[in-house]
Amino acid sequence: MFDRNALPKAVTVYEVGARDGLQNESIILPTVVKAQLIRRLVDSGISAIEVASFVRPDLVPALADADELLTELEPLLPSHRMSALVPNQKGLDRALKTGLREIAVFASATESFAKANLNNSIAGSLDIFGPVIKQARDADLQVRGYISMCFGDPWEGKVSPSKVVDVAERLFADGITELSLGDTIGVATPGDVVDLLKAFDARGISRSLLAVHFHDTYGQALSNTLTALQEGITTVDSSIGGLGGCPFAKSATGNLATEDLVWQLHGLGISTGIDFTALINTSRWLRDTTGLAIRSKAANALVDNKGMAEKK
Ligand code: MG
Repeated sequence: MFDRNALPKAVTVYEVGARDGLQNESIILPTVVKAQLIRRLVDSGISAIEVASFVRPDLVPALADADELLTELEPLLPSHRMSALVPNQKGLDRALKTGLREIAVFASATESFAKANLNNSIAGSLDIFGPVIKQARDADLQVRGYISMCFGDPWEGKVSPSKVVDVAERLFADGITELSLGDTIGVATPGDVVDLLKAFDARGISRSLLAVHFHDTYGQALSNTLTALQEGITTVDSSIGGLGGCPFAKSATGNLATEDLVWQLHGLGISTGIDFTALINTSRWLRDTTGLAIRSKAANALVDNKGMAEKK
C-alpha cells in the first residue's frame, strides 16, 4: 500500500550529468561550458554534483579536461559537495592536487562488466581501489563508491543481491562513506529494489549509507525510486536532461532525468532545496547552448512553455 508517511521529508539529489552524462554523449563540451553548467546547477539549488573524472584522458576524451575544469570550479569547492571519479592511484594523485573534498570509485557487481569497463576482474579492481580509498580517507576526503550492474547485466542476466553486497562489504571495509547502487541497464523493477535493500540489511549495512542510481531504459526509474524512498533511501542519483543516453542500446534512455525526479519529489512534498523553475531554465540553456538532446519528460513539457505552469 502507498504510505506517504513512509517517505522521507527531504532527499539529496545527486547530480551526475556532468560526468556520467557527458561521458556518454557524442558532443564534447568546452571546459568553460561545463563550468557554466555546473554553476547553473549549483544556482538551481542542487547540493551534490559529480563534476569530472580523472580517468586517462585518451580513454574518455569527453572528460579529458578534468584538471582544467577543477581549476575553474576552485572557488565553489570549499562550500559545495562536488566529487570526481578516480579509477586508480594516478587519478587520485590528480584529484589531490585540486580542492575536491570527495572522490568516487566505480566497481562492478559482475565479472563481465568488470572486464568490459575496468579491464580487470572484480577482485583485481577492488585491489586497486583499496589503497586509493584509504589514502583519500587519510587526506580527509569523502569517498563515494559505485557498484554497477546491481540488478542485471547484458552478458550475465539477473544479478544476485548477494554478489552486490559482497562487493559492497569490501568497499565499506576499505573506507567508502557512501555507496550508490547502479541499475546500469535499467532492468530492475520495484520488487528487485526491495530484495537488494533487504540483502544489505541482512549483512548489517545501514540504508543511510546507500544511494540509488536508476536508469530509465525500461521505463522503471521513477517507480524504482519511489520504492527506494519508501524503503528509507534518501539520496538519489540523476542526470540533468537525462544526459548520457544508454551506452548499451543507442535508441534507449539511460540515466533518470533530474527534472523528472524533482517533479516527483516536490509533488510528494519532499524537500530538495532545488528551485524547479531554475532547473528547467538550466535544461533550456543546456539544449540551446550545446545542442544536446534533452531526454527529461518534465523538461520537454516545460522548456518551450507549452506545459503546465512550473509550479512545483
Ligand atoms: Mg548512470
